[in-house]
Amino acid sequence: MAKHCSVSKKIIKDGKEMMVCDETRAELLPALQKIQNKKGYISNDDMQDLADEFGIHPVEVYSVVTFYAFLKTKKQGTTHIRVSICPSCECAGSAKVMEAFEKELGVRDGETTKDGAFSLESASCIGMCDHAPAVMVGSRLVGKVTPERVSSLVEECQKGKTPLSGEYKPGEIKRQGEVLLNVTEPYAALKKALSSGRVAVLEEVRESGVKGRGGAGFPTGVKWNLAAVAQAESKYVVCNADEGEPGTFKDRVLLSEYAKTVFEGMAIAAFAIGATKGILYMRGEYESFLSELESILDEMRKEGALGTDIFGKSFEFDISIRLGSGAYVCGEETALIESLEGNRGEPRNRPPFPVNTGYMGDPTVVNNVETCVAVVHIITKGAEWFKKLGTEKSAGTKLISVSGDCEKPGVYEIRFGTGIDEILQMTGAKNTKAVQIGGASGICVGEKDFKRKISFEDIPTGGAVIIFDKSRNMMDMAGNFLKFFEEESCGQCTPCREGIPVLLEFWKKANKEGLSEKDRANLYSLAETMQLASKCGLGQSSPNAFLSIIENFS
Ligand code: SF4
Repeated sequence: MAKHCSVSKKIIKDGKEMMVCDETRAELLPALQKIQNKKGYISNDDMQDLADEFGIHPVEVYSVVTFYAFLKTKKQGTTHIRVSICPSCECAGSAKVMEAFEKELGVRDGETTKDGAFSLESASCIGMCDHAPAVMVGSRLVGKVTPERVSSLVEECQKGKTPLSGEYKPGEIKRQGEVLLNVTEPYAALKKALSSGRVAVLEEVRESGVKGRGGAGFPTGVKWNLAAVAQAESKYVVCNADEGEPGTFKDRVLLSEYAKTVFEGMAIAAFAIGATKGILYMRGEYESFLSELESILDEMRKEGALGTDIFGKSFEFDISIRLGSGAYVCGEETALIESLEGNRGEPRNRPPFPVNTGYMGDPTVVNNVETCVAVVHIITKGAEWFKKLGTEKSAGTKLISVSGDCEKPGVYEIRFGTGIDEILQMTGAKNTKAVQIGGASGICVGEKDFKRKISFEDIPTGGAVIIFDKSRNMMDMAGNFLKFFEEESCGQCTPCREGIPVLLEFWKKANKEGLSEKDRANLYSLAETMQLASKCGLGQSSPNAFLSIIENFS
């Protein structure tokens, strides 16, 4: 790492001078993560040392440290335990699991044991909703934890063992569809792309009508074309694996079982837009997958699928992996880019868009994990085949992560246009009261809407489906979602920062005495302001779940 590097460099973009991040600054977050893992916290001296090393003010280092939930300024225990409190885990009894840990360790949520062996913390969601209630012990994901299991988990850690029993293991896909979870011949798509040429690939992807699978639904072909025509010396492909939406875990399954396909999709994107570097940005909760993913990348290099002269063609591309550090907002693509550059993961103003001014100020395509996989199948089987699978405006299939009150939680591949009632049937849900579609930022529908369809025409979703049966109090769930947003807001813009606590006040009042007509009018007016004036999707969507619960269940 270069000593005393500059923080930023000057570039000319669209005739204007602008300052963008220097590549060495991008090493700040990994350097902080390394210290956190080694010492359990980042001291003032560490921050001063890093400030000297990176040539920046210590306050800047401090501002980065305090942004990310996984970075601590107070020493954590040798083993840090995170208990997920997402709605699925809450329904499955996470409060009792937390109580059992508190009793076993003799500390409260947020504290460290006197001997420094353990620290305990609740976490918004750890991507294990199908194995609820779930916890992270160090970097290991452990599912279906009962209060009775807690003492043996602690004992295993005390004996220096890694907890195994009840641990998440891949191979639990519940429904394989025609596209995403189908096996492809390794590299057939990449080889086909290389021989058909850049223009043909761009055309095939555009023609397929595939839209971003993260939830926003921007047409992938349009995004790739914009990046392809952008003039720059360097371009990047970033795969967004920072799925932090409560109720979402499909990327975890794709990365643990279809990683090569994900990387192949990234390589196809890179070939199409003319990029040479790719980055997989993976949520910190999936750190335990890291070594396996690195091995797969090595294997791909040996097989000639990454590196220089890929499959004998003059195409150069390689992928590195970066970990997030527990900030939900980094799932927003510009916040993710900020995080990659070693900054606080705060969303940027748009325009400029990443396809023109992304990572390091260069054109960058940010694609969801599922989108990368879809592209591989589109290139292999063709745009026409893909289009026929969905509805008019929603081509292809969709992965959904189903959790909550059903017999068979897990990842399902469905065709767009599938009804909520069909999902309830295939997952063995009974006595269903409500279904939250799209996680915390989505909407909550009741029985009268169970005929509605998953599609961009009706109910779009990034994939989270949480089922609640008739025993659940939906206002409790609304509170869970609002507290999640309060915790995760980056605080950068006023409507979101100030609006979410006011939403929580309305929620408290609704629980206590109900909302008057005037309260409701004020609530809707606030929600409208937040939806219109918040800078990113977090603030814009934060009232959705609460409003739909009030409308459908109060
Ligand atoms: Fe940050 Fe919320 Fe504004 Fe997004 S809407 S930039 S999360 S304060």
